[in-house]
Amino acid sequence: MAPVAQRPRGTQDILPADQLYWQEMTGAAEAIATARGYQRIDTPTFEATALFVRSAGETSDVVTKEMYTFPDRGGRSMTLRPEGTAPVVRAYFEAGLDRERQPVRLYYIGPFFRYDRPQAGRFRQFHQFGVEAIGDAAPGLDVEVIALGWRWFASLQLSGVSLQVNSIGDAACRPRYREALRDYYRPYLDALSEQDRSRFERNPFRLLDSKDPDAVALQANAPRTLDFLCDACRRAFAEVERGLEQGGIPFTVNPQLVRGLDYYTRTAFEFWHESLSGAQNSLGGGGRYDGLAADLGYRDTPGVGFALGLERTATILKSREIGPAIYAVAVEESARPLMHELAEALCQRGLAVMADVSNARLDAKLGRASKMHARLALLVGLQEDAGDHVTVRDMRLKKQESIHRDRLLLHVLDMLAEPPAETT
Ligand code: AMP
Repeated sequence: MAPVAQRPRGTQDILPADQLYWQEMTGAAEAIATARGYQRIDTPTFEATALFVRSAGETSDVVTKEMYTFPDRGGRSMTLRPEGTAPVVRAYFEAGLDRERQPVRLYYIGPFFRYDRPQAGRFRQFHQFGVEAIGDAAPGLDVEVIALGWRWFASLQLSGVSLQVNSIGDAACRPRYREALRDYYRPYLDALSEQDRSRFERNPFRLLDSKDPDAVALQANAPRTLDFLCDACRRAFAEVERGLEQGGIPFTVNPQLVRGLDYYTRTAFEFWHESLSGAQNSLGGGGRYDGLAADLGYRDTPGVGFALGLERTATILKSREIGPAIYAVAVEESARPLMHELAEALCQRGLAVMADVSNARLDAKLGRASKMHARLALLVGLQEDAGDHVTVRDMRLKKQESIHRDRLLLHVLDMLAEPPAETT
């Protein structure tokens, strides 16, 4: 008899061989978010349909074509969540987090659902790591959020990631920009596809990210949001640029980067990867959504966040050949905080460090270090070490040394500087 069912189209089994990458991504997300004061939040996988219709906009692709919507047995319309921001904002108000000290910093990791045509990098169930910082409009918070995403890719040793940044203005300056866009596109209306003509009417910003060849040809000379910013938005954008520069985070100002919905304000950003092309080149993105809370019927409250895709990131992780310079391991549970502290300190000195966040046995952790092609393993909490010593193991020479914490950085740099000698 043939099997009664197969994996549904557009879904994936994350098999044991892939779990290593998933642990790496979620472990890094948890460590990096927690270290910066972001607390985990998990919202339901389904919500009242109205939440997404309102937040994504009735005419958006997500709502018109991509939602998994069903009536529950009580006749209420429910939808499998296509994105995380609206649910997190809902939970923030429902739980009274708006009355705590602001901003409230939250992160999540979990599955999302969009009924889309499956293709490379596009699934019907996929996973995102997201953060939302709610309750503060300061541009410094945009920088913090962007830096957190950047740090995540860096800690995964992903090279080839580029950060694209833009400002799309706010309610004060956007109407003027919208009219300028319409003026620009009006003479070409006949040449545009039907979908783009309807974008012209409903939401001309979307013409800037249309993939239709006729619209693409017109994008290069279209008016740029940045030329229309009001003073407040211009100052905010300058502050974001300055913050990124000070943080040593390279970025490209991309005037084509837009968000289709009115509740988005000011900063918009995306992380692209050189190996991904076409419509699926984005590993994730985010921005400010100062108008969202009010659109959902809550008190006007600013927020900024991002969502990064785990499937696309995993694809790149798998193709990566070089491992991290250092694989950090806590030998026992109590050594974990120190392990993270040392790993973070080495990271900040520009070293590629991956921390093992599992509860596996030591030999299994070392097995992972070698599978990850790490040069060195940092063992924190070995019994043989005195309190302020840690052990550094050369994974190729299979030799290890106990080193005083204060000399760790210098020692590690020395070991990494040695050419990877042949083992005899
Ligand atoms: P978005 O919420 O559309 O801005 O998506 C943010 C990120 O989530 C994208 O850059 C992708 O990495 C990932 N993503 C979004 N939709 C899908 C999908 N259908 N399949 C796989 N990954 C997705």
